[in-house]
Amino acid sequence: MKKYSKQRELILQSLKNRIDHPTAEMLYYDIKNQMPEIGIATIYRNLSDLCEMGEVQKIKPKIGPDRFDGNKEEHIHFECTQCHDIMDISIRENQTKKIDNEIKRLSENIDAECKSANIWLYGLCKKCKKLANINIKD
Ligand SMILES: [Zn+2]
Ligand SMILES: [Zn+2]
Repeated sequence: MKKYSKQRELILQSLKNRIDHPTAEMLYYDIKNQMPEIGIATIYRNLSDLCEMGEVQKIKPKIGPDRFDGNKEEHIHFECTQCHDIMDISIRENQTKKIDNEIKRLSENIDAECKSANIWLYGLCKKCKKLANINIKD
């Protein structure tokens, strides 16, 4: 049992140390350096436990495998349609209220009551936007 917790702790820490919303496989390669005997099935099992515990959020990008998020602060996601990086955009409390109100109004359009929302933004990240601009100039 003790070993199990140690693995879970390591997975959680390694997830919290990154900002790139890794896949289970990316985390596996990360953790393998510190714990060479760990298997990918252990990573999957612990990630699913951590999701159930609310410590980790599983996110589903438009393409590719599930990604994992250890950021527990309120935030929305921006997915780059070019390189498929997923970035966090933190929102301030007064912004949360504004967004909530707007969503409430939208759901009233169909006489529904919104309980939660999941906002995803898509576009070009800073890096890809820069590359796109260079290509246009050439
Ligand atoms: Zn990009
Ligand atoms: Zn995130």
